[in-house]
Amino acid sequence: MQNAMTVDVEDYFQVSAFESYIKKSDWDVCEHRVEQNTRKILKIFAEHNIKATFFTLGWVAERYPELIKSIVAEGHELACHGYEHIRVTEQTPEQFRLDIRKSKSILENISGTSVIGYRAASYSINKQNLWAHEILEEEGFRYSSSIYPVKHDLYGIPDAPRFCYKPLQNKNFIEVPITTLPFLNKNLPCGGGGFFRFYPYFFSKLAIDRINSAEQKAAIFYFHPWEIDPNQPKQSGLSFKTQFRHYLNLTRMEARLKKLIHDFEWNTMENVFLDAQNPD
Ligand SMILES: [Zn+2]
Repeated sequence: MQNAMTVDVEDYFQVSAFESYIKKSDWDVCEHRVEQNTRKILKIFAEHNIKATFFTLGWVAERYPELIKSIVAEGHELACHGYEHIRVTEQTPEQFRLDIRKSKSILENISGTSVIGYRAASYSINKQNLWAHEILEEEGFRYSSSIYPVKHDLYGIPDAPRFCYKPLQNKNFIEVPITTLPFLNKNLPCGGGGFFRFYPYFFSKLAIDRINSAEQKAAIFYFHPWEIDPNQPKQSGLSFKTQFRHYLNLTRMEARLKKLIHDFEWNTMENVFLDAQNPD
């Protein structure tokens, strides 16, 4: 069973939880670490001979075009994470359309490949903005991985389908929700990010094992370049919750990630979900 390995290519100061602390206009004067961290990830993937999908911000691609070319040259899938990490919940349908059109064309012009996958900033497709799927399809995307079927203070549709589905009638477009595990009438998030750093490794392994064997489904894992960078500049003044979520176990992440890569089979979103599987 192949699972999908995904990376959301953004820098540590671009996460939604830092929005009220770092202005977008200051991004260019922050110390940039996304290129070196993403290159470190490329090296880890090459050493373990796996291919992954890189959901990348247009903002990052414009500043680091060589990085984008390396991602594609090494056989990975390049996909879109919007231009500058604005959540879909903050956009009108027209603003959303312009954002995905702009970021898709930046990525395609630099890489010379077509970009068919999209992930919303902070999994911000929810019940109020399901129009986003239609616009994605109209703008030439073939899949989205933007819904987390969990209850969370910042995102999620707790009762969304847990696995790959077609949100639009008579269209081949698919939504591939992030992996969860049902537990006591709730879905536990187990697709990566902060949860992967929070749970002991054996729990994450058990969850993916269960999804692969008992449910016979592929899992999706996601993480960010800044999560393998314990030396990133520390932001002051954060709320306790934001500080805890962002900095927890950063020193353990790289070793844990390597275990995960070793323990399961991994491939790109496109290879796992568009070619191998027909959604119900
Ligand atoms: Zn993001």
